Amino acid sequence: MPQSVQRRQAASTGRRLVRKTRPPALLAELALRRGFRVYQDPLANLFIRRDGKDGHHPPFLIGSHLDSQPTGGRYDGALGTLAAFEVLETLEDAGIVTDVPIEVVAWTNEEGSRFAPGAMGSMAFSLGHIPESWQDIQGTDGVFWRDALAETIAALPVAEQRALGFPISGYLELHIEQGPSLENENIPIGIVTGVQGTRWLEVTVAGQAAHAGTTQLAFRRDPMVAVTSALHMLYETVMPEDDNARLTIGRIAALPGSVNAIPGSVSLTVDLRHPLTDRLNTIEAQVLAAFQASAALHGCKVDIRKTFDMSPAPFSKAVIEGVEQAAGHLGLPSKHMISGAFHDALYVARVAPRAMIFVPCRDGLSHNEAEYVDPEHSVAGTQMLFQSTLDVLNTLAIKQ
Ligand SMILES: [Zn+2]
Repeated sequence: MPQSVQRRQAASTGRRLVRKTRPPALLAELALRRGFRVYQDPLANLFIRRDGKDGHHPPFLIGSHLDSQPTGGRYDGALGTLAAFEVLETLEDAGIVTDVPIEVVAWTNEEGSRFAPGAMGSMAFSLGHIPESWQDIQGTDGVFWRDALAETIAALPVAEQRALGFPISGYLELHIEQGPSLENENIPIGIVTGVQGTRWLEVTVAGQAAHAGTTQLAFRRDPMVAVTSALHMLYETVMPEDDNARLTIGRIAALPGSVNAIPGSVSLTVDLRHPLTDRLNTIEAQVLAAFQASAALHGCKVDIRKTFDMSPAPFSKAVIEGVEQAAGHLGLPSKHMISGAFHDALYVARVAPRAMIFVPCRDGLSHNEAEYVDPEHSVAGTQMLFQSTLDVLNTLAIKQ
């Protein structure tokens, strides 16, 4: 098992294959060679099925995604998809018959780097339809999403067509952590108990544009002063007082943006994250209060709009329990953790019990060509996915 995982990891990103064979086509070819059935749905989500005893029972899904970032690495998505295929092959090699069909899934466009939004495949799967507004989406290269989708589907004629959003009994995804905590603590397995919530705010503080040289302090209504003092207060409190809170100001602009003018207004984005809805509410209220108080103090007005609100998504108890049991069976050290990034599991969470398994990546680095996973950790993660699949079927009370 270990060597074949490594071989496939290398093969999936090898230069020759990237140029000549799309990763889904390569995976489909490997699957057909093993006698598995290959399907794709109208979103080009790819499914590889190994039948169970009960052909009518909704399948248990394991997998991840095969797309990447423009300067992405070899493991984000690919590890979870290829490890899932390894699980299917291992079940086949060991002659293990499950009651429930097991299917590997490779979700379409998780990253959203060419066509936004990301996680289109799992989102449409959980909705059961393709949102009308997606038809007019254009990629960063000007190509229409609908044309790229049609081309992707046509490129895999070996796959049988299947409807979008069929019932499933559960979902399990192996992924690299994309952060440094497992590596720092020298723990090979993260048992992911949920995805944290995210809120985006757009804040505009308006004051009065005036001459930089002639306007004395008493006559200034400077929105930059209001913004910086509010931010200072927030940076000193939000994250220092709560390890699970995240506050990021990623974009800030002053208008008119002239070197010798006090700005008339300053606009900025605020990205807030937390695993608990209550805490997100409190932190959002803290942000609002900080800007309002600071704007009032400096004779400015503030306008705050919420542009994005993704609730925290706790994963299913039964699936987490199965993963815990698997770690125990394999004797692998593990810890519970919350995912800081979005994943397909977030959307699948709306339709089925699910959880995720994380493995460490070097220096926590991801979305970078230097992304690296120690082979030992790839193997541990794949063994965890295999054992967890069997244990989760038990904890979900699906007969073996
Ligand atoms: Zn990913």
